[in-house]
Amino acid sequence: MAVAVYPGSFDPVTYGHIDIIERASRLFEVVIVAVFSNPDKAPLFSVAERVEMLRESCAYLPNVEVDSFAGLQIDYARRRNARVIVRGLRAFIDFDYELQMAQMNKKLEPHVETVFITTSSNYAYVSSRIVKEIALFGGCVEGLVPDSVGRRLVDVLRRAKRDAGQSP
Ligand code: ADP
Repeated sequence: MAVAVYPGSFDPVTYGHIDIIERASRLFEVVIVAVFSNPDKAPLFSVAERVEMLRESCAYLPNVEVDSFAGLQIDYARRRNARVIVRGLRAFIDFDYELQMAQMNKKLEPHVETVFITTSSNYAYVSSRIVKEIALFGGCVEGLVPDSVGRRLVDVLRRAKRDAGQSP
């Protein structure tokens, strides 16, 4: 059975990610979307929130599971008996890092293949970072993230401003 893992930060999930997940779900029997808990990054959303948003957004895809992990993605793939790691490629700037990562993973575990799915052109410019920037400055994120994610972005940014001592 072809199990694929799609690891990422998903802080938060965007329509660019969902496009990759949906297309991967047509290629593999099971797709495990795995939220990476990275101690080096200061995410906007907790791992639990990111998992919840992904679950809501992917509920219409029956062969997609959402999970989280810490540590090396290749160890996680091994634990889940996955033969494939899926990654999305947007533009040339993604390529260098992704190639290095795929080759390192191959060295660590030769039985796991990395499969790249290229972005649909209408999502090539969408990234979690840009979506957060737009929301931070009060811009509209409609069409970039699911509506429920957009609402959570507004809430979490309001909360962050309040915690920083600014008015809501
Ligand atoms: P980001 O914060 O850049 O959105 P993530 O770590 O959440 O990155 O991304 C997980 C994976 O999804 C990576 O392989 C990344 O290249 C891919 N990805 C992110 N956004 C898109 C998009 N708009 N189209 C295709 N792939 C994407």
